[in-house]
Amino acid sequence: MSDRYQSFTQSAVGRMLVKNLGLPSPASLERYAEGDPLVRGTVLVGGRGRLAESLPGILASLDIESADATAEGASYKGLVFDATGLTDSGELVALQEFFTPVLRALDSCPRLIVVGTPPEAVTGAERVAQRALEGFTRSLGKEIGRGGTVQLVYVAEGAEAAATSTLAFLLSTKSAYVNGQVVRIGVHGATTAEPVEDWAWPLAGKVALVTGASRGIGEQIARVLHRDGATVVGVDVPQAAADLQRVTGELDGDWLTLDITAKDAPQRIAAHLKDNHGGVDIVVHNAGITRDKKLANMTDERFASVIGVNLTAPERITAELLTQQVINPNGRIVGVASIAGIAGNVGQTNYAASKAGVIGLVDSLADQLTDGITINAVAPGFIITQMTAAVPFMTREVGARLNTMAQGGLPIDVAETIAWYANPASTAVNGNVVRVCGQMILGA
Ligand code: NAD
Repeated sequence: MSDRYQSFTQSAVGRMLVKNLGLPSPASLERYAEGDPLVRGTVLVGGRGRLAESLPGILASLDIESADATAEGASYKGLVFDATGLTDSGELVALQEFFTPVLRALDSCPRLIVVGTPPEAVTGAERVAQRALEGFTRSLGKEIGRGGTVQLVYVAEGAEAAATSTLAFLLSTKSAYVNGQVVRIGVHGATTAEPVEDWAWPLAGKVALVTGASRGIGEQIARVLHRDGATVVGVDVPQAAADLQRVTGELDGDWLTLDITAKDAPQRIAAHLKDNHGGVDIVVHNAGITRDKKLANMTDERFASVIGVNLTAPERITAELLTQQVINPNGRIVGVASIAGIAGNVGQTNYAASKAGVIGLVDSLADQLTDGITINAVAPGFIITQMTAAVPFMTREVGARLNTMAQGGLPIDVAETIAWYANPASTAVNGNVVRVCGQMILGA
């Protein structure tokens, strides 16, 4: 499932055609491999605000080298600008003053972050200025190129120390296919974070339930959560038992075969987790199906089955695990939505409704959860899997290129985003929907 167009653009003939015909030229994205440092290079920190003082300490705690002033001839792997001190629109020029001089001194796949105050938490001119940061970051995300990413992190007052796991993710190669996103920290629920002893092994001792774990994105989620230290309990339909056992066997994990839409599925999952693991720390609702047809040709069965698997099952399982208190304190619930749930898609009224509903589940629970339990969702764009490999060539090519990175993402990109939510230090990361789409133009 390689990207044949991207390989072609890296050949001698391909490079010539790309240049002469103005074709998209996808950058080679740097991705995290076990044992890598989070950042290979220096992160330049600037701005004046609530985080300016704590940022160097946060980066040092992650073994990330930082600088607070530019040096002659230096190049940077990351830039972090604290914009929480901007209280009116006239001060926005500080963004340009910080970024413009260093944009030509960036290493490959640079990571840029603007930190702001959630606009909804402030009023008047400050609210205007903070809201303006969104347009700035999304545009710079489209300009940056060379596999670079630009994100906006809104940190609520009092949640400054809870930003560590988010900075670790967004500055590292783990966020290779996440671009132009807005993350909120400390806006829903907790403003504090649990400490992490070993950032290479943050999920040590945790139990993670992953539905649809036998292949595709679910398999990769299981692998990444295991890499980070978790014991994985994979769930899939009985027909996928052999693959599920292979995947969870390789990860020294556990498995349970059932159809998540079965009436007793929530109770069986709850009982399995309680009896065999004493509870669960991370719940990833990944299992999903498509049954595409335009609404005029849609049957009841096609419509209902997609809503049933993608939305009603995660709702019922979540409710049961919460009611029976199977989810441990500081637990994590993660939904897998889709760009289709944000932008809509022809032939996908059922699928898009189910995925928008997953976002609704995040919205409905984020303020209700207690004990440091969080709920967030990922919204993948075009991810290269067996499913998308079956899409006709031209449709696939167009789908994969309609984003700033001019390429499809990989299952690992979705998995890394989920691992960030799952991190015990992400207690204040609650109620977010982050797109893993290379900043796809659809629904942007
Ligand atoms: P996939 O079809 O390869 O895997 C889905 C898994 O879910 C399979 O193992 C399947 O057996 C399992 N499953 C389906 N129905 C089930 C049920 N009733 N009970 C238990 N298990 C069930 O799909 P994928 O591409 O890996 O997608 C994973 C998730 O990501 C889905 O929720 C999908 O909607 C979402 N997503 C995928 C893409 C993409 O580009 N591939 C984009 C956006 C969102």
